[in-house]
Amino acid sequence: MAFLVEQLQPRLIRQFENVLTHQRLAQGYLFAGASGTGKRELAQWLALSQFCLEPSATHQPCGKCAECQRILSGNHPDVITVAPENQTIKIEAIRHLKNELYKSGVEGTKRVFIIVSAEKMSVNASNSLLKFLEEPVSDALIILTTTSKSQILPTIRSRMQMIDFHEISAPAAFENFKAQGLMPANAQLMSLLTRDSQQAAAWQTDNNFKPLLQGVLHWFNKLFKGDPEAFVFVQTQLVQNAKNQEQQSLTFQIIVNFYDFLLRLRYDKDKEIINPDLIKLNETSQQVTDRQLTEQLSLVLAVQKQLRVNVSFENVLEALTLKLLAV
Ligand SMILES: [Zn+2]
Repeated sequence: MAFLVEQLQPRLIRQFENVLTHQRLAQGYLFAGASGTGKRELAQWLALSQFCLEPSATHQPCGKCAECQRILSGNHPDVITVAPENQTIKIEAIRHLKNELYKSGVEGTKRVFIIVSAEKMSVNASNSLLKFLEEPVSDALIILTTTSKSQILPTIRSRMQMIDFHEISAPAAFENFKAQGLMPANAQLMSLLTRDSQQAAAWQTDNNFKPLLQGVLHWFNKLFKGDPEAFVFVQTQLVQNAKNQEQQSLTFQIIVNFYDFLLRLRYDKDKEIINPDLIKLNETSQQVTDRQLTEQLSLVLAVQKQLRVNVSFENVLEALTLKLLAV
């Protein structure tokens, strides 16, 4: 069975296969990295590797045996996952872990504990976990995942082996999104904007996303034609579609990523584009030269920073559009 994490983090999989082969698994790991990088998936893969009845020669779990099936469906009594409830992990959740650990008197029972978004642990929960880590119990594997390792108590961090998850590539995100059920054309566009499948899925059901995206595409269309209406369009469309700060920074994120995409295409002409919006965007962008594209992107990047200092989105985008038209 092929696991998603093999596509997301092939190097870490090789690393852990090696660790398992040499029986050098540490007792505690801290998986740190941006969301969508496969931290939780790797934690599950490791849990599977501990219980699989028919692992491969390289210690890959099979994903099919009874033990694997129980873990994949979240029903394995010895694989316990704790995740935040209402944005926090309370001390009760950590106490539950401890109880589970000491409940079984059977020698040699393996246990895997996974604490998702460990930075959300309350102070009490962190202290409780720390006591737990100070008296290590054999046959227990503890994995914390976090998007913000600086928010984990240093005393906890120092007891875990840190694994940094690097941002996945756009092609890997593309494959990942398709595996998650997105249509290929849509997956291609999403992979330009995010590497996080949860984010991509959230945008699919967000009623504001589509108009915002289409607005940016129309704006590009006018801009590349040198049409002064691009300026008016900021007021009539882009500002209307991006009412809050999140949507405003998303607007800029889309603009920057599309420029980046178009520039890369200039150097990689064999790349296959399957998304109709991107095909059209690439066609209209042929009206500007490589140099103009590069200059425009650097103007956008310079202006993007101003957004953070509380300058009006409308003013910033209008002034930018005038500058871009003049390039
Ligand atoms: Zn198995």
